[in-house]
Amino acid sequence: MTKITRFAPSPTGNLHIGGVRTALFNYVYAKQNNGKFLIRIEDTDAERSTREFEENIINGLKVLDIVSDETPIRQSERFNEYQEKTNEIINSGKAYYCECSKDRLDEIRSLQQQQGLKPQYDGKCRDLNLEKSENTVLRLKTPQEGASIFNDLIRGEVIFQNNELDDLILVRSDGSPTYHLCCVIDDRLQDITTVIRGEDHLSNTARQIHIQEAFGYPRLEYAHLPLVLGQNKKRLSKRDSVSSVHDYFDQGYLPTSIINMLARLGWSGGDKEIFSIDDLIKDFRIQEVQKGGAIFEPAKLDWINTNHLAALNFDKFKSKILPFLEKFKIDITSKNNSDDILQAMRTSQSTLFGIASDLRPYFHSIDSYDEKAVKKFLLNSKATLEYVQRKLQAIETWDEPSIDGVLSASQLALDLPIPKLNQPIRIAMTGSTKSPSLGLTLSLFEKDEVIKRISAALKYLSENS
Ligand code: GLU
Repeated sequence: MTKITRFAPSPTGNLHIGGVRTALFNYVYAKQNNGKFLIRIEDTDAERSTREFEENIINGLKVLDIVSDETPIRQSERFNEYQEKTNEIINSGKAYYCECSKDRLDEIRSLQQQQGLKPQYDGKCRDLNLEKSENTVLRLKTPQEGASIFNDLIRGEVIFQNNELDDLILVRSDGSPTYHLCCVIDDRLQDITTVIRGEDHLSNTARQIHIQEAFGYPRLEYAHLPLVLGQNKKRLSKRDSVSSVHDYFDQGYLPTSIINMLARLGWSGGDKEIFSIDDLIKDFRIQEVQKGGAIFEPAKLDWINTNHLAALNFDKFKSKILPFLEKFKIDITSKNNSDDILQAMRTSQSTLFGIASDLRPYFHSIDSYDEKAVKKFLLNSKATLEYVQRKLQAIETWDEPSIDGVLSASQLALDLPIPKLNQPIRIAMTGSTKSPSLGLTLSLFEKDEVIKRISAALKYLSENS
């Protein structure tokens, strides 16, 4: 059967990691079933919803190639549809006006709490046949007996006793429809077949089934995803800034890595760790999603990103890193061996931002040395630096094999362990102890520049020791 799924964010915050996973699973499930994936903007909370958040969500998904098969609809523009459906439910007698004041509701709530009961509306107005007024809300006549039972593709049978679910509000006293009402109506009007969302919506599903039944709508298919947890095993919140997907783009995680990582949040299809969205469409099974919370591990994302970066051909890698180089004012046209430098450094870190940052000393002069590196290797290295500088100066053909030859001969002559010889030179060249093999690193610079940087390190030593 063709499936139609939807991702229905409320634009009250930026697109976060948990939201992307919900969108991804909806997208993949629809595509596996020759269906459609829709985005619906649930912006009925006018105070908290903004167009900026909406754009952030839609654009973020677009970067990840998760695109709605139809133009996304906005609930704030559909009040006529909700009004029409509201009239239907009023006429059917399955909803009623309630005039209970906030004070009364507060009072019964605190009384119920004192008695250790779950706070819920007591149904005072249920059979009073009240007329609509400016003080009334519209409530659903929820069945008082029996249970709301549904089959969840991940959890199996889920049961909510109806006496646990009170008569929920469908329309507020100001005439605005509530989330539950809009959601049920839109799911129907958009022919949604399958609702995939976070497990925090489990009880909402039971409530929405009651509304569907009041309208006589068919049952939908449901899957409730486990929560995404941080490493502290607590929920990753929308407000948690690092959970915003744009922060990951800014750090230089590839969209494909984010997709790969999110797919693994709660699902594992065999031992395969690295895959694309197309692999997912082929292999993902919603029934295999785990029930327990899924812990998001940043180190895992780094590992996945390293793999995805390594899989890019050089030209693709270059096009991906260019915007990050701009952030560091690195102009690759300023050097004729830029490609060699990029190639040598492309695995230096797990993110494009990190790699771009490591590329700075190859394009700009160094303005400082790493403090720890100085203490550990640079101080007391004057004689070594002077010796190697002299030997390097004498090289006629400036290339990696000749440089390697000089470095090995110097090591033997000075009788030093490799780090004691190499690290002071590395620090002189890059400011830190991290770079590709030293021969390669030096060959990426002009000989004059190497001599100049070693002189600068010697000057630093004379001023600081
Ligand atoms: N708008 C709801 C939210 O952002 C989601 C509703 C749904 O998926 O049914 O939590």
